[in-house]
Amino acid sequence: MEDSSTFNWEKGLAFDSEHIWHPYTSIENALPVYAIESASGVRLKMANGKELIDGMSSWWTAIHGYNHPVLNQAVQDQLAKMSHVMFGGITHQPAIELAKLLVELSPSSLTKVFFCDSGSVSVEVAIKMSLQYWHAKGIPSKNQVLTIKNGYHGDTFKAMSVCDPVNGMHHIFKGAFPISYFAEAPNSKFEEGLRPGDIDSLKQLLMAKSDRIASLILEPIVQGAGGMRFYSPQYLKMVRELCNQHNVLLIADEIATGFGRTGKMFAVEHAQIEPDIMCVGKALTGGYMSLAATLATTEVSKTISSSTPGVFMHGPTFMANPLACATAVASLKLLIASPWQKRIAIIEQQLQNEILPLIHHPKVKDTRVLGAIGVVEMHENVNVAQIQKFFVELGVWIRPFGKLIYIMPPFIITELELNQISKAIELAINK
Ligand SMILES: *Cc1c(COP(=O)(O)O)cnc(C)c1O
Repeated sequence: MEDSSTFNWEKGLAFDSEHIWHPYTSIENALPVYAIESASGVRLKMANGKELIDGMSSWWTAIHGYNHPVLNQAVQDQLAKMSHVMFGGITHQPAIELAKLLVELSPSSLTKVFFCDSGSVSVEVAIKMSLQYWHAKGIPSKNQVLTIKNGYHGDTFKAMSVCDPVNGMHHIFKGAFPISYFAEAPNSKFEEGLRPGDIDSLKQLLMAKSDRIASLILEPIVQGAGGMRFYSPQYLKMVRELCNQHNVLLIADEIATGFGRTGKMFAVEHAQIEPDIMCVGKALTGGYMSLAATLATTEVSKTISSSTPGVFMHGPTFMANPLACATAVASLKLLIASPWQKRIAIIEQQLQNEILPLIHHPKVKDTRVLGAIGVVEMHENVNVAQIQKFFVELGVWIRPFGKLIYIMPPFIITELELNQISKAIELAINK
């Protein structure tokens, strides 16, 4: 690579806008992107030398902040041994140690681990497991998936088919899509019990269609990219009971919520329930590289193995990449050794003090906070390019979407830094 000190950013940015797709953007009508040269702690350093306080943890991932000495060391140590080796017929210490940690940290009935490269793939794997489970049970007609509206589960085809049909733009892919059943999303808020009628839609679908339904997939407690909604643990409890009653496997997508973000290690703990299958990703490597995993119960793994083909039909090329697994082991150990519950409680308290009062602004429809997540929902869509420019001028990195200005900072953020983020949001709303 060219020496970064002599890299021509003007040409680089021009090339970018001409040739490179960014997430959910047009190349022909490119919005501005900001050049980041390095990152350390909670700060992103721009190519022009200006520093931004990070409010996004690079989409839920960088929970310990950037350029962390312990994680850097873990990468270097593993790099010196081997960066990758195939997982077919081979195993290695990073995979074993990571699987052990995941089995220990996750709900106790989850005992089996399938490693894959990204969150979307872990969702594909989870759904495939649930289909193979019923196939092995001799009920192959149970091959559809049930979910709730406002969800987000990834961008690959099957994962996309269980994203919210409106937000997920299902009309574009009509005909190419596998069928999924959609129940109404819960309106019962996190602090509330179950509102009367809130689970009726789900109950009715299960009663009518459970002979066709293999699994129910949802994001426990926090619906992320589908609308940043927090719902009642009581709802999740009922979902678990209904899945038991109707012989439907429960898949918890903890890709965004896992590893402490909501104040619990996993969001299912708010409802004291255990899923049959669970997806983790995002913060797994502390934001260093892409790695995900699908965890399953012994009942799921035993059943899949009990009937032809007798194997689980999935195996990514980069399965259990040693470099990623070693980084994940270091990240999880770092998390467990830190006072993360206390830290997140402090962040939550500060967000409650600073974000919740913005509800009084006439342009604001709702404000909500859970764990280290703060959300300001506006009445109207925000102008992303404009507001982003303003945030950068103020020295913070926040990336809104739709009507939502939301933050989920690294757990190491200080009171002063978080206050700068809250202040920036308030200023942006007032502008
Ligand atoms: C981000 C996300 C995914 C998709 O993960 P990728 O790594 O982007 O493929 C799936 N489910 C949830 C809840 C997510 O937040």
